[in-house]
Amino acid sequence: MTRVFNFSPGPATLPEPVLRKAAEEMIDWHGSGMSVMEMSHRGKEFISIHAEAESLLRELLGVPANYKVLFLQGGAIGENAIVPMNLIGKSGKADYVNTGEWSKKSIKEAKTYGKVNVAASSEAGHFTAIPKQSEWKLDPEASYVHICSNETIGGVEYHWTPDTGKVPLVADMSSNIMSRPIDISKYGLIYAGAQKNMGPSGVTVVIVRDDLLGHALPITPSAFNYQLQAENDSMYNTPPTYAIYIAGLVLKYIKEQGGLKAMEAHNKAKAAILYDFLDNSGFYRNPVAKDDRSLMNVPFKLKDDSLDEAFLKGAQAKGMIQLKGHRSVGGMRASIYNAMPIEGVKALVAYMKEFEAQHG
Ligand SMILES: *Cc1c(COP(=O)(O)O)cnc(C)c1O
Repeated sequence: MTRVFNFSPGPATLPEPVLRKAAEEMIDWHGSGMSVMEMSHRGKEFISIHAEAESLLRELLGVPANYKVLFLQGGAIGENAIVPMNLIGKSGKADYVNTGEWSKKSIKEAKTYGKVNVAASSEAGHFTAIPKQSEWKLDPEASYVHICSNETIGGVEYHWTPDTGKVPLVADMSSNIMSRPIDISKYGLIYAGAQKNMGPSGVTVVIVRDDLLGHALPITPSAFNYQLQAENDSMYNTPPTYAIYIAGLVLKYIKEQGGLKAMEAHNKAKAAILYDFLDNSGFYRNPVAKDDRSLMNVPFKLKDDSLDEAFLKGAQAKGMIQLKGHRSVGGMRASIYNAMPIEGVKALVAYMKEFEAQHG
């Protein structure tokens, strides 16, 4: 069996021990005589799987007691509507910071549900930096301030936490949750699809402060009403059971590896190898401001984009896949989430050197 180095932005590579464990438990989970897929979500077996996933997530992220952890469906794009439906009703308006393609999508969707103020934007600079907080024009009456903590496409990431005073900070953390420790108490709400750094697609994690529950617009579907889901332990509707189980295995694996501090060290080491190489190259280039570079998604361009296809083909031949950049920015992108081993990044850089020597 050969596993590739999979640089996909998502669904993304998962830790091999997690996949092996899932394979081992596929037919008969812990002597239950059932696969997790076949279990009632209200049976004692699945209730224990669900509770363990939540407790690991709370432990790893240090989630305070006055926050609910929900496991929902709909993905981060679903949350682009679900967040305003649940939170914007307080004042009818919200602030959004525009740092790239994912923020843009969030902003567009939110406009259906209330008044959206774009408090800051890096669009004029082609989304290559995070706007400094001193430049943000925040509305003290906003129901919340929305950011995307890591722009998966543009490769820009917040390495600081905005201070929004009494206005709750909401973050789309789909592509950097679990990559390093964060202070949950600085946020009102965090959401993340699992398929980048936490598990398979199908489950969306929402971490929400208690006082933000109970303000949903009347049009909010019951399955997407945070308060109703919180009251029902995320089981108002059938939760994505198998995806929650795999996420639980991933969280357990992260804990065994030393938790989020260890993940951060591992991710910094990987990103440094790649960015150092890019910065010392005249052939490859990353356009992002150094302070705002993502540890998770590293976009880069070749000197001559007519070589892109040859680059991708050569990478594939060496077992390195999914390096093509997003169509909106072109070039390449290496996504190097928690589960990407350092060997994968070293192999990529070795290949990049070799390719440059042949074509540079
Ligand atoms: C992948 C991604 C999304 C989209 O997630 P879906 O599961 O397709 O809804 C949204 N935001 C960010 C930051 C992402 O990385």
